[in-house]
Amino acid sequence: MSNECMAELLFPDVKQLPADIYSLYPPRNLSSYAMVTRFAPSPTGSLNIGGLYATLVSERLAHQSNGVFFLRIEDTDKKREIKGSIENIINSLLYFGIRFDEGPTFSGDDMGDYGPYKQSSRIQIYKVFIKHLVRNGLAYPCFCDTDDLQKIRISQQDLKITTGYYGQWAKHRDISFQQAQEEILNGQPFVIRLKSSGSSDRRITYHDLVKGEIEFPENDQDIVIMKTDGLPTYHFAHAIDDHLMGTTHVIRGDEWLSSVPIHIQLFETLGFRLPQYGHIAPIMKQVGASKRKFSKRKDLDGTAEYYREQGYPGMAISEYFMNLINSDFEEWKMTNPNKTFRDFFIYPCKMNASGALLDMNKLSDVSRDVISRLTGKQVFDYLYDWSEEFDSEFHTLIDKYQEYTVDILNIGRTIEKPRKDYSKWSDVKPMIDFFYDELFEKDVLSGYKLPTNVSFDIAKEIVLGFSKTYSFTNEKDTWFHNIKVLADELGFAKDMKEYKANPNNYKGHVGDVAMVIRVALTNRTNTPDLFDIMKVMGEKRVLSRLRTSFGHSI
Ligand code: GLU
Repeated sequence: MSNECMAELLFPDVKQLPADIYSLYPPRNLSSYAMVTRFAPSPTGSLNIGGLYATLVSERLAHQSNGVFFLRIEDTDKKREIKGSIENIINSLLYFGIRFDEGPTFSGDDMGDYGPYKQSSRIQIYKVFIKHLVRNGLAYPCFCDTDDLQKIRISQQDLKITTGYYGQWAKHRDISFQQAQEEILNGQPFVIRLKSSGSSDRRITYHDLVKGEIEFPENDQDIVIMKTDGLPTYHFAHAIDDHLMGTTHVIRGDEWLSSVPIHIQLFETLGFRLPQYGHIAPIMKQVGASKRKFSKRKDLDGTAEYYREQGYPGMAISEYFMNLINSDFEEWKMTNPNKTFRDFFIYPCKMNASGALLDMNKLSDVSRDVISRLTGKQVFDYLYDWSEEFDSEFHTLIDKYQEYTVDILNIGRTIEKPRKDYSKWSDVKPMIDFFYDELFEKDVLSGYKLPTNVSFDIAKEIVLGFSKTYSFTNEKDTWFHNIKVLADELGFAKDMKEYKANPNNYKGHVGDVAMVIRVALTNRTNTPDLFDIMKVMGEKRVLSRLRTSFGHSI
């Protein structure tokens, strides 16, 4: 009876019972091996790379088992919230191709039947369960302020015993109704604590999906489940939400590992079935020969946003992460080149328990490979979206010259072993900018980059001679034959062998002649195949560039 009175005293406005809430959350209609997983970020800034990694693991586990993956925003700490974080998180998930089935959306509406998916909209639900625990004598109000807690801690330190709010030290564990009523009338703030039934002498073992068998002492602390502001703590909200939302597998950072005994106790006390847990060690950054954790302040490349800004395709990051999740992915990919990473089955127990290492070189290789498998049109579409947000000058150009850009991107792509020149969208512009007259003209204003063994006068002669023989319809053989003839006429060796035998007899060799033409057309000394470039540039542009090259008009 007194518990009942206490519950009414603390939560007079809460009328619902757990049963009312349960009726809103029926069991999910899924097969027995389907996993229900979730990503539960706090909206405190951009998504970090480790969070993205853990999210991919959760998403894969759900979808490879025909289960459900949902997004839940843990926004009960309003002080730490950063505006725009939710949009940022949703954007990142979309970009990296991590599809969630339920959760908040941009419009602010929820998608899915197990919401609301923002904890700040679930406060009443938590209160129903907290009131229920108080009513059953399993939780109680604690009016201790920081001074009281400090005093307890000092006494415990003097006695050299474990500090905290537990057992005989839990001052308000048996608080009477009258005392609580008095404190409340005096306007004293209070938290709600769970009355722990655990003992630190007893041990529990549990099986972690990633770390394997783990043994802990039971939790004997009376943990806070509701803060003075009426909001639940992480622990409590986790138990309520993951139970009601039907989560079967909780994949999260291993900073939560030490909280497992608390969570086991909470689920037991609430009469909920415990989900399976998998704790993932943080992703490490390779720095020279050593490795360390990503630093929030120092490492720009520690956020998911960084990879989006740089233009790593979401698919490439996911594919690279698959290598880190299960190292046999690479071998699988070799035997299944035409399958996507979504066809690969991941196993949490095969993950590296001590933390994966992010190797930028390897990531770039995987990304180059992924991009090389795309068609020119696909690359164009990605580039178009990416540049709209991150490079408006380039976006305007490729928008104006759409077909030309697809042709440019197709160079070296439509062959059996396509070129692997781009690892991210921001690599593209510096490699193809010379194709666009607007950018090319700007570039040559600061001079042509001729190799040092060719003088300006000779370069002019070469260009003049080449212009005379040039015809757009020439086949590659004829085209190259003409360059050789020109080389010979101008005193250059027609082939390398001749040149090497008697270098002093020549001004240079046919390669130098081709190089001059390359520089005249692109102002680069290193480009993809020159013939292919000229085909894409078209006759008019080629002739116009030849004519105006090296500061003169022919
Ligand atoms: N909001 C918690 C965090 O961001 C979620 C941990 C969990 O996945 O349960 O760390």
